[in-house]
Amino acid sequence: MGVPIGYDFLVLATGVTHSYFGRSEFEKFAPGLKSLADAVAIRNKILLAFEQAEAEENPARHGDLLTFVLVGAGPTGVEMAGAIAVLVRNTLKSEFRRINPESAKIILLDMAPRVLGPFSEELAQAAKERLVNLGVEVRLGHGVDQIDAGGVLVDGARIASKTVIWTAGVAPSPAGKWLNVGTDRAGRVRIQQDLTVAGHPEVFVVGDTASLDQDGKPLPGVAQVAIQQGRYAGTLIHRIVTGKSTPGPFRYFDKGNMAVVGKGFAVLQSGKVHISGFLAWLAWAAVHLQFLAQSSLRASVFLQWVWTYATGQRGSRLIVNHHGSEPAKPVAKEAGLALTISSK
Ligand SMILES: Cc1cc2nc3c(=O)[nH]c(=O)nc-3n(C[C@H](O)[C@H](O)[C@H](O)COP(=O)(O)OP(=O)(O)OC[C@H]3O[C@@H](n4cnc5c(N)ncnc54)[C@H](O)[C@@H]3O)c2cc1C
Repeated sequence: MGVPIGYDFLVLATGVTHSYFGRSEFEKFAPGLKSLADAVAIRNKILLAFEQAEAEENPARHGDLLTFVLVGAGPTGVEMAGAIAVLVRNTLKSEFRRINPESAKIILLDMAPRVLGPFSEELAQAAKERLVNLGVEVRLGHGVDQIDAGGVLVDGARIASKTVIWTAGVAPSPAGKWLNVGTDRAGRVRIQQDLTVAGHPEVFVVGDTASLDQDGKPLPGVAQVAIQQGRYAGTLIHRIVTGKSTPGPFRYFDKGNMAVVGKGFAVLQSGKVHISGFLAWLAWAAVHLQFLAQSSLRASVFLQWVWTYATGQRGSRLIVNHHGSEPAKPVAKEAGLALTISSK
């Protein structure tokens, strides 16, 4: 039983979770990426597939183990497809004896006619070409009809895969239900220009779980919106509490969007600036370094990135179990060299 906590002001920033568009049975076979633990679990799944293939003597049985399917070609799917491509083509290249990681298939699926919906057509095309150059198969224009233990069914055709990852959709937290207030069609809480809920000047809802239009368009579910709204709500509450004049309505300042597609390549869209390639990747790296809290962390991450970029080396084959409930087991003791580490 929870203990009630009274409040003068309530700020709800409970974000989103994966949405399987009413097909919750897919979740068991196609995990999504939202948290660091999800990212580690997905990485373990990919590495274990390689270990299983290495242990499998019959090459005819390698197909589904070495086929990685990503459902959803938005920024998450595109970035992940690029990262897996770099992992299998570079990092794992000479790590196995029986299998050739470069033979792995990476398939990125989306029902939309193009990748990277929030970006311009030209940048979406550049990202797609980059993925194809990295060896990713990009299949657009068809939704996934079925996901099960054997793989996926798309447009009547089965793709056999033991590793399907859901990068398609998100659904907001049930904040609208908790508050019993109006939501938009996606279920995000409708908020006012001062980020409060109508009729509740003491309740703020910010970030991905909030719905606010600006210049006739809904604000996107990105970190910049969440950060700026959090700052605004904090300032407003502080000014109310200290009896100072309150600021004008919230206004989102869009600094632009970026997505990284494999090593040394990104797309960047900021106002009229649309660039793709190495320069965009440098900007991506600079922005991400700048957001790290301490200068010592910035320096160590920078040095680590330079080292990884130059050598391609990283702790890629560590299979880590952050949940600690059941240690991840390396499958191919005799064939592989995987390490299993539990962080519990
Ligand atoms: C893989 C991925 C990549 C992304 N990349 C980018 C990017 O490059 N650029 C960008 O701008 N945005 C990116 N985003 C989006 C960005 O992460 C979100 O827009 C941002 O995190 C939203 O912040 P938030 O505070 O609203 O929600 P969140 O960051 O999701 O935080 C919500 C928190 O509330 C907690 N919570 C939920 N329910 C409850 C409850 N009942 N009680 C207590 N706590 C609860 C959750 O555990 C979570 O910690 C990415 C998202 C993902 C998943």
